[in-house]
This record gives sequence, structure tokens and C-alpha cells, in this order.
Amino acid sequence: MLAIANWKMKLDVLQSVALAQAMVKSARHLPQGTEVVLCPTFLSLAHVAAAVKGSTLRLGAQDCFWETQGAFTGEVSPADLRQLDCQYVILGHSERREHMQETDGQVHRKLEAALRTGLTPVLCIGENYQERSGSQKDYVLIRQLQAALQGVTLGPDDRLVVAYEPVWAISTGGTGIEATPDEVQYASEVIRHIIIDLYGAAVLQRSVQIVYGGSVNPSNVASFTQLPTLHGVLVGSASLDAATFLAVISAALNPMPSRTTDRSNTVI
Ligand code: PEP
Repeated sequence: MLAIANWKMKLDVLQSVALAQAMVKSARHLPQGTEVVLCPTFLSLAHVAAAVKGSTLRLGAQDCFWETQGAFTGEVSPADLRQLDCQYVILGHSERREHMQETDGQVHRKLEAALRTGLTPVLCIGENYQERSGSQKDYVLIRQLQAALQGVTLGPDDRLVVAYEPVWAISTGGTGIEATPDEVQYASEVIRHIIIDLYGAAVLQRSVQIVYGGSVNPSNVASFTQLPTLHGVLVGSASLDAATFLAVISAALNPMPSRTTDRSNTVI
């Protein structure tokens, strides 16, 4: 189970280190196979890297540039992220697409650069409220995924995480409406179809994980993580406090019995 914490720009450096230290203490007790990834701001990365060193916690960045070196004032190289022990990088988050006018083409270039440098991209895709109301959801998922992955090969050592994040369900920019497990299941099946179309079922199974993000909290997380096609969650607000984030992880790992838990990546 993959639990990715997106701290956005909500914590300063000291708060980020304190939260990472609190997470390190509790992460000792997490069962094997639980991958917890902390994604602080760029400025906090080196400090959080020091705080999580030697623990099972993983580090991720919230973005990166599409070149590794050169005259690109203000940008952050994926190679430098690797030097800081980053393993993951969130790309194409809806807040960047909205506030920084990040395009599908830019996300594609960033994804290629991330893979080239050995980072695992956490590629965020998802429709906004208007697109959802206009029955455009499938179209948006297909467009964003195909554009990001166009011409990209996924070798045996590459990993890709696709995060289905319906913009309307994200706590900060959202509508207050929660996605239902059925909606998330449907979207993850669309994603699986596209990946199979692009790469085949074997690559899907070997290299790709699908997570859900959008107002995930301790009460609703199990309804998503029990879905047969999901591998985990991307968590914003509920990851900003160690006790709450641990409650999310624990609820995902110990769900109340209801649906079956089968992550076998059955071919659809
Ligand atoms: C996000 O923005 O990636 C996110 C999942 O946020 P939240 O959990 O707060 O909806």
C-alpha cells in the first residue's frame, strides 16, 4: 500500500522537519509492503531528507523541471532531487495546471526527465467540476494520460504512479463533494485500459500503480484502498498532522471487512 503525503506549501521548514520526525517514530511499526512517501516543499527537502534518513519513509518532491542542468533560473533539476535521496516526484498536480498554467506538453517533458533521472513520477490526472458535469471525464483522463506518456518507454527498472485526482473532490479547491468508491473504481479502470493500450498488460502489472487523491481521511480511506484496482492514496490535508496521517494509513491497512482486497492487477 502506497500512502503519499502532499504537504503543498502549507508547512514551513521547521514544521516539515517536526512532522517528518514524528512520522519516523511511528513508521517503525508499519508492516512490510507499506510505502509512505513525504512530499515537502523544495526548501524543506534537504532537512526532511536528513530527518527520515535510515527510516523506511520515502521522500518525494512536488514538481521538477524537464531539464537536468542549464540556464533555467528558478527551476529545480530532477537530478538534484535524486542527490537529495528523493525517489518520487509529483507531476501535473491540478494546482500547478490551474495556477501555473502547466500544460499537458510540459507535464510530458517533466515526466520523461523524471524517469530518465531515476525518479518515480506520481502523475496526477483528473477532471474538474465542469468537465465532470459535461460528461467529459473519460475524455480528460485519456487526454492527460496519453499526452503525458506519449513516446515514453517504461523499462524494467522504471515505475510510474498514476494518481486519479478529480479536481472537484480535492479539499482546497473542491466543491465539498466526495468521490464515491464506484466513481474511483470506474476512473481507475479507464486508466488501466489506457495503460494497457499504450504498454500492454505485463507492463501495467510490472511498473504501474494507481492511487486515488481527493479529501482522503481516516474515515473514507478504506473505501478506496479496498478497491481491487487501487494501490494506495495521495493525501493532502489529512497528511499535515502525524496522528491523522497515521490514522489514514492504519485505516487503509486494517479496513473493516466489506469488499474484497485483490490487487492482482487482473487484466481487464
Ligand atoms: C491533493 O491536493 O493532492 C490532495 C489529495 O488534497 P486533499 O487530500 O486535501 O484533498
